[in-house]
Amino acid sequence: MNKLQILVVEDDPPVRNLITTTLKAHEYRYITAADGSEAIAQASACNPDVVLLDLGLPDIDGVDVIRKLRTWSTVPIIVISARSEESDMIGALDSGADDYLTKPFSVEELLARLRVTVRRILMMQGNAAANSSQFINGALKVDYAAGCAYLDGEELHLTPIEYKLLCLMCQNVGKVLTHTFITQKIWGNSWDSTVASLRVFMATLRKKIEPSPDSPTFIQTHIGVGYRMLKVE
Ligand code: CA
Repeated sequence: MNKLQILVVEDDPPVRNLITTTLKAHEYRYITAADGSEAIAQASACNPDVVLLDLGLPDIDGVDVIRKLRTWSTVPIIVISARSEESDMIGALDSGADDYLTKPFSVEELLARLRVTVRRILMMQGNAAANSSQFINGALKVDYAAGCAYLDGEELHLTPIEYKLLCLMCQNVGKVLTHTFITQKIWGNSWDSTVASLRVFMATLRKKIEPSPDSPTFIQTHIGVGYRMLKVE
């Protein structure tokens, strides 16, 4: 893959400089925007590979920037929010952001999130090329056409909900899915009781797919937010 171009949307100059200096040192190209209107203009003019988006912008709400971008673009969006903006961050994920960073964040965290996103882009390109009806992630395989899942070649005995949940996670590999998003997709609503059910089904699914369910390698928990299927090496 050629050097990726990252659109950095951040109104705070010191944070913007920290991000761009880090990107430069790690062979990413970047462009910047200091507010939401500039972000939308830059995204449409430059077609970046990834957008790093601060949610607290001086003009447009970051969540509205995501909604606008999502009307024409599937570019991966990593939102950056202050700890006090947790509900905004969940709203951003539900509006189509892929991942999030909470301020203050370290350079290592920023680079780790970018690596996850890059793997996701590569995997999506690979899947598109293969026009795959299968999902393969390390020892885990889902055959969508046959409606079966396998671990180390052994068929998994999943309940219909566990299978649906697994497929949803696989189809969004690399992306943080919120509790609301998942429960809407699985049950069509996101009541507190369905969020509680989700925890139960996630626990039983993990027992079946994770070599050690207490330290999961496939599905990561984001406390208070949701879950993410990781691309394993
Ligand atoms: Ca800000």
